[in-house]
Amino acid sequence: PAAGAPIVIVGSGLAGYNLARDIRKLDSATPITMITGDDGSFYSKPMLSTALAQGRTPEQLANANADRMASDLHMEIRTFTRVTAIDRSGRKLSLETASGTEQLQYGKLVLAWGADCIKPPMDVQAPARVFHVNDLTDYSLFRAALKPAARVLVIGAGLIGSEFANDLIQSGHAVQVVDPQSTPVASLLPPEAGQDLQQTLGAAGVEFHLGTVVERIEHADSGVRAHLDTGAVIEADIVLSAVGVRPRTELAASAGLRVNRGISVDRHLRTSDPDIFALGDCAEVDGHVLYYVAPLVACARALARTLCGHPVEVHYDAMPVAIKTTLRPTVVLPPPRGASGQWQVQAGDDGVHAEFRDTSGKLLGFALTGAAVAAREALTREAPALFD
Ligand code: FAD
Repeated sequence: PAAGAPIVIVGSGLAGYNLARDIRKLDSATPITMITGDDGSFYSKPMLSTALAQGRTPEQLANANADRMASDLHMEIRTFTRVTAIDRSGRKLSLETASGTEQLQYGKLVLAWGADCIKPPMDVQAPARVFHVNDLTDYSLFRAALKPAARVLVIGAGLIGSEFANDLIQSGHAVQVVDPQSTPVASLLPPEAGQDLQQTLGAAGVEFHLGTVVERIEHADSGVRAHLDTGAVIEADIVLSAVGVRPRTELAASAGLRVNRGISVDRHLRTSDPDIFALGDCAEVDGHVLYYVAPLVACARALARTLCGHPVEVHYDAMPVAIKTTLRPTVVLPPPRGASGQWQVQAGDDGVHAEFRDTSGKLLGFALTGAAVAAREALTREAPALFD
């Protein structure tokens, strides 16, 4: 029934656009339709947490608009259009647009629809002053609300929260960070590396409240008042919530696709339906959910070949993550989930060098800060691929 129907890619983030570009390198003819809930601007999401210090406005972060991308990549892009259901037996998508609902036939379907920000469990009585940033639209709203020298409360000292703290403090804002863990970026970094980062950001003026959570945010005269579970109170102008993301899986699950932490795909990026694929922040690739650019780039390259008739499995190298806390450069290769081993840490004034090794001495991960980041290449070469 779907003869001649296009490859439909849902999502215009880095996963969707990298895939479209990689397909076009191999095949200039197969029709591609991209469906996106946003305006389809092509931008590099990692730049959102370094834009202030670089003096860039949200508008300057958009490298190309949807019209330009559609003509460059010779495809159709339907902006401000949301997929609301997948009919697998009829190979149709239900779409919701500004002018109503309609259906779209697909030949192959690729889900690249990303992840949702997790909302921390707290009583928010001032929602208009609480922001989260997981795309350019969110970021534009945050920047519009961010007045010069604003007092910003960042909830979450993970990778994203720490990067924003680093960016905000360098741009003349007053920054307070709250996190239930006892060190920053605790899910990725051993405590010594987290403390090292905390010390640098602290010396620059960031105030940390660790081992505690925000319970309530209420209106105050010129902003908000946040109540912590310790009883402490923080006054701020605006709040940036950055406590993590969760893959968008509901529509896939409703369509009967296998879903675990993300949309489950094999190393061909294939879901439990042979005509439906997934990559990027929404996907769980052979058990790995990785919210980073390097894995989605590898997935896009492999999936393009598969969709063009040359099936290949994705290969994941050891992929270290640079944490863009520019005041204290930090690189981490998180050990695989559940890996057993121990951190061996050398900490000095010029940085922390931490290696995660198993009992046989095999390197499974590392974390480097400051001058120690120079060891990145050598350690990456020594670390095993995540999968071959
Ligand atoms: P997204 O970019 O979220 O795209 C999802 C797309 O799907 C959007 O176009 C959305 O509109 C669309 N969509 C969603 N639902 C629907 C629907 N129902 N119908 C139609 N369209 C829909 N990673 C790194 O490796 N290095 C970094 O330094 C780094 N820094 C980061 C800094 C920040 C501030 C953030 C937020 C993330 C950072 N990341 C970084 C993570 C990285 O940016 C993401 O992993 C990556 O951009 C995810 O791309 P994606 O295409 O999967 O998802």
